[in-house]
Amino acid sequence: MRSVISPRVLIGAFMLVLLVAPAVLPPFYVTKLNYIGLYAMVALGLVLLTGVGGLTSFGQAAFVGVGAYATAVLTTSSALPGWLAWLGASPWLTLGAGLVITAAMAILIGSLTLKLSGHYLPLGTIAWGISLYFLFGTMQILGGHTGLGGIPAIHLFGFELRQDNEIYYLIWAFLLVGVFTVHNLLDSREGRAIRALKGGMVMAEAMGVNTARSRMVIFVIAALLACASGWLYAHMQRFVNPTPFGLHMGIEFLFMAVIGGAGYVWGALIGAGLIVVLKHWLQGLLPAIFGQSGNFEIIVFGVIMVFVLHKARNGLWPILTRLTQRVIPVRAAQRRIDAAAEPLARRELPIAGTLLLDAKNVTRKFGGLVANKDMSLQVRSGEILALIGPNGAGKSTMFNQISGVDTPTSGEVLFLGQAVAGRDSREIARMGMSRTFQHVRMLPTMSVLENVAIGAHLRGSKGVLASAWRLDRAEEARLLAEAARQIERVGLAEHMFDEAGSLALGQQRILEIARALASDPCLLLLDEPAAGLRYKEKQALAELLRKLKREGIGILLVEHDMDFVMGLVDRVVVMEFGEKIAEGLPDQVQRDPAVLEAYLGGVE
Ligand code: ADP
Ligand code: MG
Repeated sequence: MRSVISPRVLIGAFMLVLLVAPAVLPPFYVTKLNYIGLYAMVALGLVLLTGVGGLTSFGQAAFVGVGAYATAVLTTSSALPGWLAWLGASPWLTLGAGLVITAAMAILIGSLTLKLSGHYLPLGTIAWGISLYFLFGTMQILGGHTGLGGIPAIHLFGFELRQDNEIYYLIWAFLLVGVFTVHNLLDSREGRAIRALKGGMVMAEAMGVNTARSRMVIFVIAALLACASGWLYAHMQRFVNPTPFGLHMGIEFLFMAVIGGAGYVWGALIGAGLIVVLKHWLQGLLPAIFGQSGNFEIIVFGVIMVFVLHKARNGLWPILTRLTQRVIPVRAAQRRIDAAAEPLARRELPIAGTLLLDAKNVTRKFGGLVANKDMSLQVRSGEILALIGPNGAGKSTMFNQISGVDTPTSGEVLFLGQAVAGRDSREIARMGMSRTFQHVRMLPTMSVLENVAIGAHLRGSKGVLASAWRLDRAEEARLLAEAARQIERVGLAEHMFDEAGSLALGQQRILEIARALASDPCLLLLDEPAAGLRYKEKQALAELLRKLKREGIGILLVEHDMDFVMGLVDRVVVMEFGEKIAEGLPDQVQRDPAVLEAYLGGVE
């Protein structure tokens, strides 16, 4: 058996190398390492924002500038009003001030631009990136294009960090704290909500995640990391001017994140390291080759970027880990389920027979097309109702009105006596309605366990700070234990730690049911759950649904498979051309001539 080492050993070795580096390296290399640390901090923000959250920003350099200028002005200006001047007493105070200013600006800019979708968001970030850059260059108090000098060194534990090999330790301490903070954050309830932004917004909202808030959270964190980098930069250089905070640096930071691996926290470090080293090397080499001076390295970066986008979309980090894995086998981080974790509080289910869902005369028109016409149906607790009908009958449209994704043209849907229309998906989820999707919506690169845990989002409450500082572990254990219980309940236990994307389609549908159950619903809406399931799996699903029904959950099933429905449900509503053509017990409906005509095409 090959011996396998823990990732902690590698991190420990890395820290040891970092610790001795300034003692053994020439000063020039220490300065390069400082830049790597400073850039990696900004790229780390982009990992969170762009790589994980899917929000592309070209404007991070501007936030670096805010951090740098905030401290530069406050520590050097003699013209500040008295109520501000006290901040200049120590760089540590100006760090706090810079972070506060940055957070306020990020919230303002974020609330204006984060709603933009598609290409408009990156364009928006370019716009404010450029604006801030010109602001740095034109404002008198910021020293215009000549900049500000005479910035004091940082004092720490009585030491003055004057030299590059002294501030080195502070830079790398900041970076490592940043890496661990982001790493912890991603491995939490908030982290799952953040990861759901990329590709799973509708699903995440239906599970109770406030996606607008998650976007803002990562935008602010990325801005704060950039600000801290700017603060360190200003006190390393002891001088600032606008040049390093322009759009070209914003683009370079994005290069670093993408080349290093925008989806991985350590990718930021690899990317920053590679760009700094390459830049240095090429700046010496290329002008010698071409016989003239110029920024030739930018051309090479462009080519590398295009190559990476073609051949290694996920960046270098995953390739690097795969290669190291061959030489030094590192144990994959294992999730452990704490079976002893205290179960989450449960909703009190309404007594059997309580009216849960009451759709009254729902009509939905799309232009001239009437997709639902005067549809009424009811679901009670402890009951399974099937909504069936041929393709295009209007089932999914009805499903959408019920789940609150769409609003009826006329008529209304009541859930527990309250109108569904006008409430957002989160509110409806909180009230106890949970759903699956006809076209499976999950996060394919996340494990089955984590996917299902998203369903339990509303049953936890720990936020960003608690996650970042690992104060959420007790709650996290309860959430994961709940997810694991639901996975066992639906019979997917052997796939608990597999990537969700590796499951067969039928199993992915089952995963969605487990995720819906993790929210502890009283009403379950299932859109074609048996599609793609094999006979045995269908039987198991039917058994599960019967069990849920006995526990008192109400279930609305939109289904195609007649045999599956008939042996299982209590009542059936049949639709055709947007209208209800029959309702009743499965046996009655099955014999109804109108249903036979419509649904089975007249075949006996
Ligand atoms: P089913 O789920 O029973 O197969 P749907 O509810 O998806 O049926 O569709 C019912 C009818 O409504 C179809 O003719 C479909 O083309 C139409 N329809 C559904 N959604 C929309 C929409 N957003 N805009 C226009 N027409 C739609
Ligand atoms: Mg449909």
